[in-house]
Amino acid sequence: MIFKTGVVDSVPDRLLSKSNFDAVRRCYQCKKCSSGCPVTFTMDTLPHQVMRLLQLGSEREVLSKNTYWVCSSCQTCTTRCPNDIDIADVMDELCRQASRRKTVSEKTLELFHRLFLREVRLHGRVHELSVIGKYKLLSGQIFNDIPMGIGMILRHKLKLVPKRINRPREMRDLFRKDPVI
Ligand code: SF4
Ligand code: SF4
Repeated sequence: MIFKTGVVDSVPDRLLSKSNFDAVRRCYQCKKCSSGCPVTFTMDTLPHQVMRLLQLGSEREVLSKNTYWVCSSCQTCTTRCPNDIDIADVMDELCRQASRRKTVSEKTLELFHRLFLREVRLHGRVHELSVIGKYKLLSGQIFNDIPMGIGMILRHKLKLVPKRINRPREMRDLFRKDPVI
């Protein structure tokens, strides 16, 4: 069913949870989210535009955008939204849905996302060198950024040996309860 405004009044194939779906419908396009977002320069579609596409039920179009992959989950948009829409959480949901539906628009970003979260799940913190090494191998971009990487190691910005948190099992339990991807 469609409202006169063109806003879809049902959840097509459950792209969003009920609470986020209801929240997104409150968006009145004030653009405060987009004007505060620090990574709009890398987005093909701005956060408020994603909200509008979601309202219209254009899920295929939403999933084809890179917005939610480049979102850094900084929460600025969520904090600024006058309608209490948790936009950052909507972006997370879109990542999960795109992965589940295998409609990933940004394959290398998704790969990085997966490797990063896997590291957090296993060790409770990120060992950057491991993530970068796996990412380079799996993405086929082995020789990019080598001088920068060497410079970072020499300046002790990249640790050679990974460190774990004291109770990594607790982190794994958290991921089990709420699988993020
Ligand atoms: S800040 Fe909130 S209400 Fe304004 S455009 Fe963004 S999501 Fe919509
Ligand atoms: S949470 Fe994502 S979309 Fe929102 S302001 Fe931060 S980077 Fe932008």
